[in-house]
Amino acid sequence: MAVLADPLRLVVGDKAAKRLAAALDLHTVGDLLGYYPRRYDKRGELTDLAGLRDGEHVTVQAEVASGSVRRMRNRSGSIFEAVVTDGTGRLTLTFFGHGTQDWRQRELRPGVRGLFSGQVSSFRGKRQLTHPDYELLGTGSSGARAAEYAAELIPVYPATSQLPSWKIADSVRIALDVLDVPADPLPGQIRDRHGLCGYADALRGIHRPVDQADYWRARNRLKWDEAFVLQVLLAQRRLAAASYSAIPRPAIPGGLRDEFDAATPFELTVGQQLAGATIAADLGRDHPMHRLLQGEVGSGKTVIALRAMLQVVDAAAQAVLLAPTEVLAQQHYRSIASMLGPLGMAGQLGGADNATRLTLLTGSLGAAARRRALLEAASGGAGIVIGTHALLQDRVQFADLGLVVIDEQHRFGVEQRDALRDKAGDGRPHMLVMTATPIPRTVAMTVFGDLDVSTLTELPVGRSPISTHVVPVAERPHYLARTWERIREEVGSGHQAYVVCPRIGGDGPDEDDAAPADGDSRPPVAVLDLAAELSAGPLAGLRLAILHGRLPAEEKEKAMLAFADGLVDVLVTTTVIEVGVDVPNAVVMVVMDADRFGVSQLHQLRGRVGRGSDPGLCLLVTEVPEAAPARERLDAVAATTDGFALSRIDLEQRREGDVLGTAQAGRKSSLKLLQLLRDEDLIGQARDEAIQLVDADPALANEPGLAAAVRTLIDPERATFLEKA
Ligand code: ADP
Ligand code: MG
Repeated sequence: MAVLADPLRLVVGDKAAKRLAAALDLHTVGDLLGYYPRRYDKRGELTDLAGLRDGEHVTVQAEVASGSVRRMRNRSGSIFEAVVTDGTGRLTLTFFGHGTQDWRQRELRPGVRGLFSGQVSSFRGKRQLTHPDYELLGTGSSGARAAEYAAELIPVYPATSQLPSWKIADSVRIALDVLDVPADPLPGQIRDRHGLCGYADALRGIHRPVDQADYWRARNRLKWDEAFVLQVLLAQRRLAAASYSAIPRPAIPGGLRDEFDAATPFELTVGQQLAGATIAADLGRDHPMHRLLQGEVGSGKTVIALRAMLQVVDAAAQAVLLAPTEVLAQQHYRSIASMLGPLGMAGQLGGADNATRLTLLTGSLGAAARRRALLEAASGGAGIVIGTHALLQDRVQFADLGLVVIDEQHRFGVEQRDALRDKAGDGRPHMLVMTATPIPRTVAMTVFGDLDVSTLTELPVGRSPISTHVVPVAERPHYLARTWERIREEVGSGHQAYVVCPRIGGDGPDEDDAAPADGDSRPPVAVLDLAAELSAGPLAGLRLAILHGRLPAEEKEKAMLAFADGLVDVLVTTTVIEVGVDVPNAVVMVVMDADRFGVSQLHQLRGRVGRGSDPGLCLLVTEVPEAAPARERLDAVAATTDGFALSRIDLEQRREGDVLGTAQAGRKSSLKLLQLLRDEDLIGQARDEAIQLVDADPALANEPGLAAAVRTLIDPERATFLEKA
């Protein structure tokens, strides 16, 4: 008998174990049983051969239609070709061999059915498998396999060239036969409440379903495992985080925050008031706050963060604001300085009595400025420190760090969050994470399951709507000329414009270049090329400037400032302006090769225009033809300004694993069956159950099966992530 943790070698023998390890990275019985079939073929139902694509490794069920042998011309030996069919489509199987391959001809005679496995290629317009592995149905199979083929559904595993599907199935069968019924990860009460089958039953059902119903039962149950085990882990982490202590920083009436509120020229939106109150209460607790604040670009997150920082400064501590780019850090610094006015000018002429000081700390500071900034942080002279990841370097110390605000979480890894947290010395600082990329609820529950979430759902009043249009230059080349004219008109009436390109140009590639697309016929439009072209042609006479990540910091700064001050009409740029930059007079944005950008990214980009009282216009220029998927994405962006709807579209186009992967710093996805968008109800139920269970039994002392499953999730390569997060 075997248990899930046993090495495969003990169960399937050395040879098969080696192959499973090498080809599929499967090492234990649990690994193998967690490798689910990709699909199930109905017995007797032939695979649709028309759907095969070149380069794919496939396993097809088909019937031999004909066979023929040719002698090879310059070599001894022959080529045997069998044509197999699904009734309509055809596929050629090619075998090179010695002699006349008589035995092969006998085996693969017309009318015989089998499973054929290999890599699809095309030769003279015909689809073929060269030297496929095969397994004939109904003949020559071992007894066990014959039994399997008598079942209604035949599991087909994602195979590789070294390991055809049925060899995997063989090993799975052996493993299932000798498996000691494992302790069930799902507590009996939860199974009963949700009508779920047992674990052993589910493992058998997913690998060897007797019928469709059996398969669906197994699948639903195993989805529950994925959702539940992850939610238990997150619940444990939340509980552990709550056991850390933090210094409470309750609001001080009459402090800087109150003075700031009194001086603010606008009313907070209801959402801002609610989020602000929640955060204020969080900061007053003796456990660290872990909160995600999400809201569209322009929804007023920065104001909320600033009020939180002021509350902490009022409590005689420091706050740090971490931005993903140098440009953005500078922008935050300037805008916060101007929002605070005298309140942020301690020790300066015109500073208020109880004022604090701001310090900017970025990688590009000169040595002297840097020393000053470090001293301000370490002495506590600066109540608010704003910067980029330069802040994370070991040399930076704080006198008393009370709050870490992270802007645009998706650009930061978990390690970076940790590095900052460590700077708080004893006790952890409170932490506020801001993101303008709306995250669907289930993703938030899963990816950021250890964070509490506040959402700003409305924009402040007085914002003008942005209208977005696709400029299809493939079908209508003259629209591009019209686009440039439109910019001239806007500039003529005193406005400014952005032109965003996916690439910098010159000797790339660069950090801010968009990813190259498949089958590129030309490199994407580049800032340097287009700026030269525009100033010599369609935009001649306008004041153009360029901005991109390869410019030295002070040039970037200069370009941004000149644009903000209205000294530049048109800024030709990469996505370095993506987040945060705020120039209300800029009302037009033209995005070149817009199909190179993701849906959410485009949505973020256009948030740069329409920040003032004049309506914004965003033009998405593309050469992609009308029916292509990339074009549908652009149409979706043009059709709605609902960031949540767009982030769902974004997510649907990626695998959930990618979402988890990028959001969770290199973490391998543990989700195989669960789909974050479609399984929302299930995930919600699993979360509720997990929270209840962990509250009652934090160490899972009464649930050995569950404890083991949680441990598997924390395998060595993920352990660092999980311990730290
Ligand atoms: P975000 O960080 O969410 O993109 P910001 O905090 O930068 O948004 O706010 C965008 C602009 O809106 C800023 O100029 C800010 O001063 C202004 N703003 C914020 N809240 C309000 C409000 N309640 N009413 C009017 N204007 C606001
Ligand atoms: Mg912002």
